[in-house]
Amino acid sequence: MAELDQLYGRIISCVRCPRLVAHRRWAAENPPRRFRGEVYWARPLTGFGDVRARLLVVGLAPAAHGGNRTGRMFTGDSSGNTLMRALYHTGFASQPYSERRDDSLTITDAYITAVVRCPPPENRPTSTEIANCIPYLLEEMRILENVQVIICLGGLAFNTVSKIMREHGEMGGFRPAFKHGATYRPGGKLFGRPAPTIIASYHPSRQNTQTGRLTQRMLNQIFLKARKIIEQPAG
Ligand code: SF4
Repeated sequence: MAELDQLYGRIISCVRCPRLVAHRRWAAENPPRRFRGEVYWARPLTGFGDVRARLLVVGLAPAAHGGNRTGRMFTGDSSGNTLMRALYHTGFASQPYSERRDDSLTITDAYITAVVRCPPPENRPTSTEIANCIPYLLEEMRILENVQVIICLGGLAFNTVSKIMREHGEMGGFRPAFKHGATYRPGGKLFGRPAPTIIASYHPSRQNTQTGRLTQRMLNQIFLKARKIIEQPAG
């Protein structure tokens, strides 16, 4: 799609955040032992998936040695594999893992993106970095015209998507609160189309999965909920 290709060109060449530009390069030059010898992507990441998607998945940011290494969102780390198992379980992904850009993964009816496109130190982007990067997510949300459901992975994704919907849609005082599993149907319009339903989920970070805050079953349930909503007959 030409509009998305143009957007991707702008994203990949972006250097708006000096701290994150430095960090993505630093990570490439200082890989952990297991990745020594690999050529890192070390540039911003675009979203990826099915441009006709009815489901949009929004995460936080690429990991320094995950997406920043492999060049694809949620690819090459444990978060990506947890997410992909849930997508596979619910029929959105062709395989239950996401390891490399050339690993033959096909995403159907879903599109995966993030609020911030370069890896932040400690996974904590500053408010300025978030504000710098939001226009790219906004553009993706505008271009992906079939989206009916947005799964927000983590509080930052949830708050950012809610803010975009509030500021660019017609849906009154839409101020939902983040709670894992909560579903919000704002009604009204976004970009002239029916506003999507949003579902809040904990992020499938290693910290959340290792502590049991988010289990694979819990994440699968989130995607099953999305699947049910998009398969509901219209009207
Ligand atoms: S985080 Fe976003 S705005 Fe900042 S440099 Fe990367 S792509 Fe650009």
